[in-house]
Formats: sequence, structure tokens, C-alpha cells
Amino acid sequence: MEKNIEQIKQEFLSELQEVKNQQEFEALRVKYLGRKGILQDLFKRLGAASPEERPRLGKQINELKVFLTEKVNEAKARFSARKKTARIDLTLPGRKPPVGRKHPLTQTLDDMKRFFLSLGFTVADGPEVETDYYNFEALNIPKNHPARDMQDTLYITEEILLRTHTSPVQIRTMQAQQPPVRIIAPGRVYRRDTPDASHSPFFHQVEGLCVDKGISFGDLKAVIEEFAKYMFGADIHVRFRPSFFPFTEPSLEYDFNCVFCRGKGCKVCKYTGWVEISGAGMVDPNVFTAVGYDPEVYTGYAFGMGVDRIAMLRYGIDDIRLFFENDLRFLSQF
Ligand SMILES: [Zn+2]
Repeated sequence: MEKNIEQIKQEFLSELQEVKNQQEFEALRVKYLGRKGILQDLFKRLGAASPEERPRLGKQINELKVFLTEKVNEAKARFSARKKTARIDLTLPGRKPPVGRKHPLTQTLDDMKRFFLSLGFTVADGPEVETDYYNFEALNIPKNHPARDMQDTLYITEEILLRTHTSPVQIRTMQAQQPPVRIIAPGRVYRRDTPDASHSPFFHQVEGLCVDKGISFGDLKAVIEEFAKYMFGADIHVRFRPSFFPFTEPSLEYDFNCVFCRGKGCKVCKYTGWVEISGAGMVDPNVFTAVGYDPEVYTGYAFGMGVDRIAMLRYGIDDIRLFFENDLRFLSQF
């Protein structure tokens, strides 16, 4: 039996040499160390040995067990290591985990908010499904007013509609609190437009409202001018043109220096050096009366701006539809 144990060692070692993969290795392990393996068989035969021989034989079998276990453990590490190195090819380019980012409109809106918050404005919110009253009537646009033709509105019923601007938020805010008021109302608005490069049936606005004692046109101009510089650079100037809106009096439209040619004139600005941004004005006294503010005591200004428009200028995007197509090839560039 002593000779037998030495033989078993040798056979085991030579068989281990032949092992090529994990499966063969596992088979070898079971053959020697398994429950019905060679080692267990030796332990069983120990019972049949004479009492004199038993201690010495037992010791030898135990040594064999230690030997086999050690070899198997060594080899096990080798096989699993082999398996791992076979899987990793260090010459392959790595796989970057996809990282999310903010939509370019959200990035732009965040910057716009940051600017106005720094001036003491707060952000106000309101419903996108509005009543005719808040969207038009309270803004000095009665039912028969020609200004309603200026906005192609998506009506749900005669009295309920999708807001065409965030101005209803201004009304709701003024109804809820007394001056001073300093808010911006960002949000999605809807018009019955056929989508093309510069039109979308929905887009995003930021409207601003400032009401207090002694607020003047000069305050409005300063805010718009500072905004232009904040978003596009210190060399961008603002041009104000007289205009008409039912809810402001006087009203104006404002243009920024073209951000592409910095005012020198290029294709985008049709060689004028200016790009249209939006409208603004001093809040019409009728609007104040409608919300219960005394127009003899308070004055204020309101302005609007398109988030999509600002983002297009900022990133040089020439088609508004790109914002809404969820094309990651486009969105991941920002
Ligand atoms: Zn230009």
C-alpha cells in the first residue's frame, strides 16, 4: 500500500500535466478528491488494515490528502487566472459607459434662470392648459380684439386652450400677491404652427415681470442689455424698436447684435448685424387694474424671450426641430 500511495502521487502529477482546460481540471479533482474518489477509497481500505499498520498508513494517507489538496489549489488558481487573461484583450479600445447630460434647451434655460435669479427675480410656474381668461382677457385682449389673430391658438374648448405664452403666470402671480413683484415665468407654450426650420407647434419662453413703485423704462433696458452681455458676451449690444402689444404700453421689440458676426453683418442676420429676440414693454395700466393693483401707485415692465431662439443663436443651430427629435447624435454634442 505504501508503494501504491507513491504511485498515486506520480499518476496524479502526470495527469495534471495533461489537463488543458477548466473542465478537464474539474474531472481530475473529482477523480482524486471527490466523495467517491481515490483518496476516499484509501480511507475506506484503512479500516481493513491491521491495527499495527493502521497509524502509519493513516499518516501517509493524510499526507497524500494534503499533497493533493495543495496541488489542486495551486492548479485551480492557474486555471482561473488563465481564463481571465484570455477574456481581456488590452489592445481593444475601452467601452465608455454612456453618460447622460442636460438637453441644450435645459442648459440654456438654466443659464437664463441663473442670470435673473442673480438680479433678485424668482421663478414662477403655472399650468400649460389655461383658460381663455388668463391667456387673453386678463392681458387686455378681449374676445373681439385683433391681437388674437396674431396668435394661432390651440383651443380645447371655447374657454380652455393651450397657453400661447407664459403671460398667464404673470396674471396668476399678481392676483396672488401685492407688489413688489419680480418673477420670471419659464415654460412650454403652444401655437398652431406647421413645423419648419424656425417654427414648432410648441416652444419655450421665459417671461419676466417686475412691478414696484418707480419702475421705469430705463430699468427694463438695463436688464435686457445685461442679459444680452451675460448670455453672448460684453460686445453684444441691444437695439430697441417701438412695437405694439395689448398688455404693455408703450411696447417695444428688441434685437441683439448678431452673435455670429458680432454685428458686422453676415448671412444669418441678412447683413444687418442684428437678430430679433423678442418683445417687452411697460405693463398696461388696464392689466394692473384687472389684478387689483393701483396703476397710479405702481409701474412695472414685462418682457418675453424664446429659450429655443436663444439656444439656437448660442449654439449656431439653424433648425428648431432638432431640439425635439430626440436624436442622440445631435443632443450628445452639447
Ligand atoms: Zn450676422
